[in-house]
Amino acid sequence: MKLFQNFYKNVGIDLGTANTLLYLKGQGIVVNEPTLVAINSRTGQIINIGTDAKKMLDRTPSHINLVKPLMNGVISDFETTEEILKYFLRKVGGSGLFSRYYTAAISIPTNLTEVERKSVEDAAVSAGVARVYLVEAPLASAIGARLPIEEATSNMVIDIGGGSTEISIISVGGAVRSKSLKIAGEKFNEDIIRSLKEDYNLMIGEPTAEELKMSIGSALPIDEKLEMVVRGRDTASGLPREIIIKDAHIRAVLQRSLKAITEAVKNLIEDSPPELVGDILKRGIHLSGGGSLLRGIDKFIEKEIMVSTHVIDDPLTGVVRGLGMIIEDLPRYATILSNQQKPRPINL
Ligand code: ADP
Ligand code: MG
Repeated sequence: MKLFQNFYKNVGIDLGTANTLLYLKGQGIVVNEPTLVAINSRTGQIINIGTDAKKMLDRTPSHINLVKPLMNGVISDFETTEEILKYFLRKVGGSGLFSRYYTAAISIPTNLTEVERKSVEDAAVSAGVARVYLVEAPLASAIGARLPIEEATSNMVIDIGGGSTEISIISVGGAVRSKSLKIAGEKFNEDIIRSLKEDYNLMIGEPTAEELKMSIGSALPIDEKLEMVVRGRDTASGLPREIIIKDAHIRAVLQRSLKAITEAVKNLIEDSPPELVGDILKRGIHLSGGGSLLRGIDKFIEKEIMVSTHVIDDPLTGVVRGLGMIIEDLPRYATILSNQQKPRPINL
């Protein structure tokens, strides 16, 4: 049996709403591309996937649709998701005789229904994976950040991705309390798009909103004064127009969504046994995911929750690095993995 084990390639897959990352055993991170597909709307054919699809973002001809097959971390377009997985696995695994024999650890949002979990498994199996382990994203990033998750203490991890924010309290190798909310990086972009339309009568696209968020966005007031020139279409005249947006505007626009995240964190803490709360107070809150790169979001959460908060190293790769550690040493994580395979009762 030992010999046969060697035919299996172990892979960690972080199939995020915004980015897909793959970690191959013995090699490290081999794929880090946007979860995006360019589809010809006339023929339904996939034209490009990942980085190649993103390159088409600015100059998309009208018959090409850019599709994000995951919504809020959940598969909304099964066939496209399967194609993405196939494409990336082929990219890293070649098409040899044993290329089908993958053991994969795949990250998922917390509190998925059984049907949603099944659809992730099915997509992986149809893409050629022989054995699938599902791992909730905050647990994976806790492992990636090397938090002492096997010890009898609790850690709070908040993964702020594109489509969802996943909050978990992790203790003795598993999540004891979790909450998922659909407010994360993409919602921040939507907030920005709406405010420019309402406050400045300017229509902008998502790439511009995302650029505003990354280059001048913040959760709390910052020392430097930042601004960005934004080009869009005037909602009244339909003509191109250019305005300057300041950091204070973006900050104000994001407050509501940021407050919704801290409210969810508060609720989860209120709902937890006092020992867990004591541990969190002692150990602090750990942030991962691209959303945690928003300037000052750690200090914002710290101020609202009154618990010290910090962003893990390289937050965009935390989940896949955790999956990588798991697939490098499956026996070590056997108990954690088997606990992760059954859906937990949902707690709100
Ligand atoms: P997912 O796991 O859903 O694919 P990621 O963890 O890859 O998400 O994070 C993607 C999100 O992080 C996007 O919404 C992106 O706009 C946001 N993001 C990335 N870098 C920054 C930054 N520097 N400031 C603010 N948001 C950022
Ligand atoms: Mg993620």
